[in-house]
Amino acid sequence: MSSRFVSLFIPLMVALASLYLSVYVEKIPPVWQALLEWLPYIFVSVVMLLAWHFNKGLILLVSLILILPLLPFDSLGNRGNASIYLLVSTINLTLVSQLQERGFFNRFAFNRIVFVVMQLLWCFALAKEWIHLPGINLYLVSLHQLSFALILFALIYVSCFIFLACKWWFKSDTFSGAILVSLLLLSLMHFLALTNKQIALLHTGIFLIWSIYLLIDSHKMAYVDELTQLPGRRALNERLLGLSKNYVIAMLDVDHFKKFNDTYGHDMGDLVLKSVAYNMDKVASGGKAFRYGGEEFAVVFANRKKDEVLSALEQVRESIEAEKVAVYECKKEAYKDVSVTISIGAALSNSERDAQEVIKQADQLLYKAKKKGRNCVVME
Ligand code: GH3
Ligand code: MG
Ligand code: MG
Repeated sequence: MSSRFVSLFIPLMVALASLYLSVYVEKIPPVWQALLEWLPYIFVSVVMLLAWHFNKGLILLVSLILILPLLPFDSLGNRGNASIYLLVSTINLTLVSQLQERGFFNRFAFNRIVFVVMQLLWCFALAKEWIHLPGINLYLVSLHQLSFALILFALIYVSCFIFLACKWWFKSDTFSGAILVSLLLLSLMHFLALTNKQIALLHTGIFLIWSIYLLIDSHKMAYVDELTQLPGRRALNERLLGLSKNYVIAMLDVDHFKKFNDTYGHDMGDLVLKSVAYNMDKVASGGKAFRYGGEEFAVVFANRKKDEVLSALEQVRESIEAEKVAVYECKKEAYKDVSVTISIGAALSNSERDAQEVIKQADQLLYKAKKKGRNCVVME
């Protein structure tokens, strides 16, 4: 399954489950029904606590944006008024999708929260008719009457929705997927004639999506290397513990990478590392690639014959050598196609040594490959 659909799979499953439950809400035992209206608040508290724990100020902001449309149903008792809250949520979710994570307790998080709360106070004041905006009469923001406010509402809403859908399509990340599905659920709550209990269920679904998102994201932070998107050292160590008897570990190292960085700059070096990692992951058939650290990688082949591994590693080496990456050369102020080479050392498992010792052996063989003139594979 492509990463695009994976990013939408869990949010959509949770959304469908909460929609399904909301249809049968009346069949839920009365004891649970009493709890139902509290569920969104319980779940939003979980999301906020997790966001605090993982230092994710952006998720705190998302929780605020998503919980606030729940309030007018209680405080105003008039569904028509909630359109303006949906609009504010839609615009703010779109803005949030463009922001960078900057942590929980800092002035950025504070400013962002003040910005959202300020808008909601305006909405509240409009709904209570404490203030009037020319052209935007809140009571005209209803789907039954064609008005300037309705056209404006539809234009902004549809544009934001299309923007978020495109963002998810091109970025294919879990954050964009979660935002898109949250907005979808929020809109369903608004446009369908639902009871308060059904709304509470859908809202719970939204916060369940964000709780799961935070868990997936923290798992990714711990196990996946941010630059190359390959699993990192921790994932490798766990993989090693789960290996059966027959396996091969290959250590790969980019040749003369220090010189490359010195010539083209560290950012261009990063670009090349990404390309090397991408090729390694794609070409090492039967092998699983990990970023070991710096410009060193490890590929683990479980239950593979020696010949198969050797030919896979040769393919990896050749494909990286053939891959051209456009890097910017500051001195000449122009782009240039460059390629790098890698050296590989590969060691086989045996009953007398554990996986860490196999890695050590592969490292020594890598050193041999460097001595041999680089851009080659040395296998035990
Ligand atoms: P050799 O062929 O012997 O491996 O030479 P080398 O220059 O590649 O070896 P060395 O280990 O001396 O240098 C590794 C360099 O890799 C040093 C460091 O600047 C660079 N490097 C390590 N991690 C990163 C990274 O994440 N990004 C970039 N751009 N460079 C990195
Ligand atoms: Mg090195
Ligand atoms: Mg190197």
